[in-house]
Amino acid sequence: MVGGTEMDNANKEWLEIPSEIRNKLIHNVWCSTCSDVAKITNYVIRTHELGIMLDGKCDTCGDAVSRVIEK
Ligand SMILES: [Zn+2]
Repeated sequence: MVGGTEMDNANKEWLEIPSEIRNKLIHNVWCSTCSDVAKITNYVIRTHELGIMLDGKCDTCGDAVSRVIEK
């Protein structure tokens, strides 16, 4: 099983995190352009060697940001 299945698993792992914690993670993504923590928007969940990764855009400046969530 490859491709889409991997993505589904990442999504599943993300949804297994309590929504309260997910909310905190979404609002605490480091943006190097803003030099500050920002909210991530338009993100997708990807698999990462350490767990899963949020890959999206900074809500403040619109630049690409990402955050790894370790298992
Ligand atoms: Zn930014």
